Amino acid sequence: MPSSSIVAVGDELLRGFTVDTNSNWLAGRLFSLGYPVKRIEVVGDVEADIVAAVQDHMARPELVRIFVCGGLGPTPDDRTFQALARALDRPLVYDQATGAAMQNLMFSRGIAKLRGTAELNAGNRKMAMVPEGSVILRNGPGMAPGIAFPLVSDRFLFAMPGVPPELRSLFRDWIEPGYLRDGSAPAVGELHYHLAPESAFAEAMLALESEYPDVSLGSYPQTELGRLIIRASGSDSARVQQVLDEIRRRVGRYQPLA
Ligand code: AMP
Ligand code: MG
Repeated sequence: MPSSSIVAVGDELLRGFTVDTNSNWLAGRLFSLGYPVKRIEVVGDVEADIVAAVQDHMARPELVRIFVCGGLGPTPDDRTFQALARALDRPLVYDQATGAAMQNLMFSRGIAKLRGTAELNAGNRKMAMVPEGSVILRNGPGMAPGIAFPLVSDRFLFAMPGVPPELRSLFRDWIEPGYLRDGSAPAVGELHYHLAPESAFAEAMLALESEYPDVSLGSYPQTELGRLIIRASGSDSARVQQVLDEIRRRVGRYQPLA
């Protein structure tokens, strides 16, 4: 199964000011689309750290879709395109169409009137400086575009804006239909228990792991709700269901909720 990875960029994520909801949302979508995430890395707004993370992910051939999110804004602390240019060994080039789209937005949002000019400032222009060879992904609700950069043998690197609604719309509008069509959704099944101790499941789960190596099985206590979730997933839905049936049968002491 092809897999993917995420590099989330931002000092605010590392310092605990902002929760990394982008990685969480992307991981869920990518799992459902059949490109499960194998690695999530959070780095600060430090060019060398972004370069190192991206190069490390590019060096792993199983990661066929690599998503870098955040750091595309107009301020100097946003350095993702510069870092990608270095990681990809490409110069940064100004994308005329992106600049023109920004100018249109400045008129339609009244920014041009407010500023007394429709001229793009340095910060605006910075958002249109992308690594040469990038495919521009227009950002519907926002200014900063994303990019798709083709790597060798059907692998792609993406950069997406950090603003969560912009990231989601860009993903839905361009990335899902354009670059993630060939994956197949895995089957997922769950058993929910009320106040069952995890240890009661350990033996059955250990045996099932070797009997069904194609099904991934995990136990997730929800302590605040007094619940335990046993979750199985895999490419074959019948096999996933068999594993859950076996858990029910082998752990007879506890009964799952409906
Ligand atoms: P950026 O374009 O990365 O500078 O971020 C723009 C806005 O999106 C800021 O308010 C960030 O805190 C927020 N943001 C960036 N990355 C993430 C993330 N991974 N999860 C949630 N919000 C984020
Ligand atoms: Mg930032």
